[in-house]
Amino acid sequence: MNSEGFVLRGGLVCDPEAGSLAPGDVVVRDGRIAAPATAGAADRIVDVSGLVVTPGLVDLHTHVFVGQDLGVDPDVVGPPSGVTTMVDTGSAGAHLFGAFVRGTVERARTRIAAFINISSVGTTSILLSGELKTLAYVDPASCRAAIDAYRDRIVGVKVRASADVAGDNGVVALDRAREVADAEGLPLMVHLGPPPASLADILARLGPGDILTHCFTGLSGTPFTEHGRLVDLIAEARRRGVVFDIGHGMCGFDLEQARAAVAAGFLPDTISSDLHTYSRDIVGGLPDVMAKFLALGVGLPEVVRRTTIVPARVAGLDGAGVGSLRPGAPADLAVLRVTDGPSPTVSAALTVRNGEIVHSASN
Ligand SMILES: [Zn+2]
Repeated sequence: MNSEGFVLRGGLVCDPEAGSLAPGDVVVRDGRIAAPATAGAADRIVDVSGLVVTPGLVDLHTHVFVGQDLGVDPDVVGPPSGVTTMVDTGSAGAHLFGAFVRGTVERARTRIAAFINISSVGTTSILLSGELKTLAYVDPASCRAAIDAYRDRIVGVKVRASADVAGDNGVVALDRAREVADAEGLPLMVHLGPPPASLADILARLGPGDILTHCFTGLSGTPFTEHGRLVDLIAEARRRGVVFDIGHGMCGFDLEQARAAVAAGFLPDTISSDLHTYSRDIVGGLPDVMAKFLALGVGLPEVVRRTTIVPARVAGLDGAGVGSLRPGAPADLAVLRVTDGPSPTVSAALTVRNGEIVHSASN
């Protein structure tokens, strides 16, 4: 299919860089996106009328270490949900990073990038949690050695700085993760949960490009809004360029916090699923999280930006064309069926990864 190419025709094309949503063709040739004007008679036509064509979805918060307690198989969950890039966030730490790369990252058809856990044991199980409770595991030197060994796969450092994971060690672990991220020139992703560390402790340590995930959790004890206005702490962090990520998961998303924040004019920077073994039944997939934001009144182009080009930039993957419809970019595409109304739905009708159709819904 690659050499002759194909054309997705009749859909509404949502280009997150142009901010546009308009009828158009998307041409795929040799595994890459080609300019619409290059469509030729030999190209196969794929009718996508009534559907929305976007870059392949980029899920900034997932757990895809296959064979590990939390891990879902990226090639099982990605294609049916239009997701072509999954960022694993801290499933593996230094001790198992090689196993993750060899067993999953190098084998998956889905593109995988990773945040390495500051704890050398990683997030071994969400049932046990506790990877920061023993500080000997929170070892900057071994984390840095793993980053040096797998720099082509690692796009950031992850720390789950909350009481359930760290006991009283949340702030110490946060500082050690900060130290590694700074030394390696990588962004830091911090999971928000019950203090300590508090939201203020965490935001004080985050700068431009660092990520607060589970930003709308109800567990931090600090609301985003008071009396309909953003609290100063949040407004100030946004001005500094801190990235606010959803990370829906089992208990990372409180609909009322989200509703209040959106009503106060605050949209998350990135919309992600925190998909893993134990959240899968609750989350569904990334399209289901997108639908929740449509239900909150956020427009489709805004939702698509937050699930394509913005997470690609946050993970440093935009330079390779991830999350983009630019001619020359890898042909990773999602064709979405979107329904409006009081309970909008989003689902993937077709998924293209590197120019190959890897999912096609029958209906
Ligand atoms: Zn997670």
